[in-house]
Amino acid sequence: MQSFDLVLFGGTGDLAMRKLLPALFRRFLAGQIAPGSRILGTARGDLSREAYIAQVEQSVAKYCEGQFDAAQWSAFAQLLHYGSADAQAPDSFGAIAAFLAGREAITRLFFLSTAPALFAGLCAQIGRLGLVTPETRVVLEKPLGQDLASANTINECVGSVFAEHQIYRIDHYLGKEAVQNLIALRFGNTLFEPLWRRGSIRHVQITVAETLGVATRGPFYDQTGALRDMVQNHLLQLLCIIAMEPPASSDADAMRDEKLKVLRALRPLAGSDVTTKTVRGQYRAGAANGQPVPGYHEEAGVPADSSTETYVALKAEIDTWRWAGVPFYLRTGKRLQEQSSEIVITFEDVPHSIFGGGSAASPNRLRICLQPTDSITLSILAKKPGDGLKLQPVDLSLDLAASFKTQQLDAYERLLMDVVKGNLTLFMRRDELDAAWRWIDPIREGWLQQDVRPKGYTAGSWGPAAASALIGRDGFAWNGEL
Ligand code: NAP
Repeated sequence: MQSFDLVLFGGTGDLAMRKLLPALFRRFLAGQIAPGSRILGTARGDLSREAYIAQVEQSVAKYCEGQFDAAQWSAFAQLLHYGSADAQAPDSFGAIAAFLAGREAITRLFFLSTAPALFAGLCAQIGRLGLVTPETRVVLEKPLGQDLASANTINECVGSVFAEHQIYRIDHYLGKEAVQNLIALRFGNTLFEPLWRRGSIRHVQITVAETLGVATRGPFYDQTGALRDMVQNHLLQLLCIIAMEPPASSDADAMRDEKLKVLRALRPLAGSDVTTKTVRGQYRAGAANGQPVPGYHEEAGVPADSSTETYVALKAEIDTWRWAGVPFYLRTGKRLQEQSSEIVITFEDVPHSIFGGGSAASPNRLRICLQPTDSITLSILAKKPGDGLKLQPVDLSLDLAASFKTQQLDAYERLLMDVVKGNLTLFMRRDELDAAWRWIDPIREGWLQQDVRPKGYTAGSWGPAAASALIGRDGFAWNGEL
């Protein structure tokens, strides 16, 4: 365990209060924060240290309900400090420089939890004041750009101050327990590898469904849309974990090299593909949790004629020997029927069934659920009790909570500790990010050129009918249901 100084830019913001500081408190309770560590929250507001601690306490008490303990809290509060700084005012970084002075030997972390438009200014000030030591790391929150060109601008600015091995680009989906388990399942067992390919796998589906609308993020979301907010990062990273070749080791670059090869092997979706292999949707008024909810156009900060998509479904293909001919169906959206994230891998049918037509014909399916619970289930056919040889799907389920009986780590807890330890495995390298944008940009350009507008869907449904048609044309249905 090594002690660290963490400078948390955006230290009063939603992400810091709801996720980052509660995650640090939970790691503190687990004895993972080394003595001598310090956390400096920073934002433009002129707050006293006491006022900041009181604000963080409210949040930690709320988001660590059931774990909050007054004695432990007062010990954690000793680590907290506050200093104001404005990313756009070069002379305002005195408090940060003073906080770090004389601590050059300690691991130093800068977490940029602000709008990405401020990243360049923040990095410029960090560089100008000479705050980057060999043991300094910088953590960047998504979204990293709006397209390849803007991502390049951010990466160039950050890269002029920090070396690539010091840059931690967060995709919190990679920190989820179920994603870690998928890596363990694939590369810790011999069972699946011979089957993990064309010939044995018929298709793969990745769903990230949200019941929430855009809430207070209307103006941000309207400039972004589901393709850039979710597909470019979370869904493509999940696709990479499923499709990558076994790396030579768990070393960060060994893993990231393999993910990069997948991104580069994605067949471009251009020209008429954007009408036949992608679907854009936008929610209309409907219901969520039994309550009426407004349509996207009625949300605060969203123009009444907005053509931003709140839903995307697409068919991706990977041009490699392993995956040729195996479609990967991706879908994500807001205001859908359920809050759920899952990967479903559907295997081929048996080449010849000896059980006759009366038995349920159901292929094996591996279902990796990331949300709302972490679980892995393999659906196999078993004999139904009673007369005759009738088959029925039964689940072999990995109950990880029961097997290990330890508290699972939240994604940010794992990722923050990885930054402290200097483990880059679960963070995106610049070339991965570039490759993802190179695949995404032509889809958006195609939508614009061919005037592909979002299709309406009712809030509380599973998205536009065109998404069912997209997968139905290949003879499949979403959720692995035939
Ligand atoms: P937020 O609630 O709007 O907070 C922004 C923070 O930045 C505040 O602390 C704000 O404090 C500070 N700030 C604004 N302008 C500044 C400036 N000129 N100089 C220094 N600090 C400044 O945003 P958020 O939701 O926490 O999101 C932060 C980042 O994480 C964004 O990039 C977002 O896309 C990303 N993200 C957020 C979530 C989430 O769940 N919230 C999830 C994934 C990614 P002052 O106004 O007092 O300066």
